[in-house]
Amino acid sequence: MTQDILLTPGPTPLPPEVREALARPIIHHRTGQYRALFKRTLQGMQTVMQTSKPVICFTSSGTGAMEAAVVNLLSPGDEAIVILGGKFAERWERLCTVYGITTVTIPVAYGEAVKPQAVSDALGAHPNAKAVFATLCETSTGVVNEIPAIAAMTRKSRAVLVVDAISGLLADECQTDAWGIDVVVTGSQKGLMLPPGLAFMSLNDRAWALVDQGKSPRFYTDLRLYRKALADDDTPFTSAVSTVVALEAALQLILQRGVPQTIQRCALMAEAARAGVRALGLKLFASRPSNGVTAVAVPDGIDGKQLTKLMYDRSRVMVAGGQGEMAGKIFRIAHMGYIAPDDVVAGLDALEQALAELGCRVAAGAGVKAGRAVLGQSASLAAR
Ligand SMILES: *Cc1c(COP(=O)(O)O)cnc(C)c1O
Repeated sequence: MTQDILLTPGPTPLPPEVREALARPIIHHRTGQYRALFKRTLQGMQTVMQTSKPVICFTSSGTGAMEAAVVNLLSPGDEAIVILGGKFAERWERLCTVYGITTVTIPVAYGEAVKPQAVSDALGAHPNAKAVFATLCETSTGVVNEIPAIAAMTRKSRAVLVVDAISGLLADECQTDAWGIDVVVTGSQKGLMLPPGLAFMSLNDRAWALVDQGKSPRFYTDLRLYRKALADDDTPFTSAVSTVVALEAALQLILQRGVPQTIQRCALMAEAARAGVRALGLKLFASRPSNGVTAVAVPDGIDGKQLTKLMYDRSRVMVAGGQGEMAGKIFRIAHMGYIAPDDVVAGLDALEQALAELGCRVAAGAGVKAGRAVLGQSASLAAR
């Protein structure tokens, strides 16, 4: 069977070491052996999330941690600022609305990053806002936001900054403590090279103070239960044992390479993808492109859905289409996690073939050549 090449922003391909770990016999979670493993992996996650604060682990997809942030930090009637700009940012708004939070939204056009000044203005106009919700990499548009500037502005207010780094972590820089981000959430199935099923959250003392004052109803996501269990390296509910075993294998690979090197490598993949796409005469969609995912405008006269379907049917390369209003207008090539230079090149080749089949005039081999030229500059960094 030909293997699919997943150039998708979650799930991402699994390294053999992770697949082997997933296949091991399961162990029980209420044992010293598991607690020691759980402790080690959460320490590894502190390194990856660049924080000295304890990391909370949920058995859920990334959205579970987003919901946990909203219900634990805020109470009904509280005011919060949500930075928009894509489908995932809009999820923050929906979550806040569901839990009775008064939301102030900062509109951002799809494909653009928020202007930090807009955040500063919103904080000035809403001095009672308790939280600012932001997105590091807006996966639906391929944009990376300027989190350091947003953090600096939020720090001058009483609000905490909550960052969705679900797809951004390990692809784009995310210096939790150094930048002063109060809460970071992430998930397992993107840069961490794991299957879906784990979500993580880091909180600093300012954020924990809000958790203790919070009045929203909460049960499964009640962070107070997780904090109490964590004192014994334990979880309040059954841990996703096998995925945590695999997390240790993934962390070994990531920490062996180094967090900065992992991000640099992802940046190189992104540069190669962008160079290849441009060489094929296509336009990038994001004004401030993330290292994790390259969003590309579908050329005029081409059906975007047909294009991505052809890439899969002909070449077994899976890329992501546009979400919501962007469906058919853009497609997205992800290069986060366990992606090799050859995968990026295969993606560019599949794109060229599909474009040609749809009658688009493309210079034969131009995308692959441009991508290879970038990757060749740093062969040692690019190696899988
Ligand atoms: C993937 C993703 C999510 C959603 O995660 P789930 O694991 O599907 O719940 C949220 N935000 C961003 C930016 C993402 O890329």
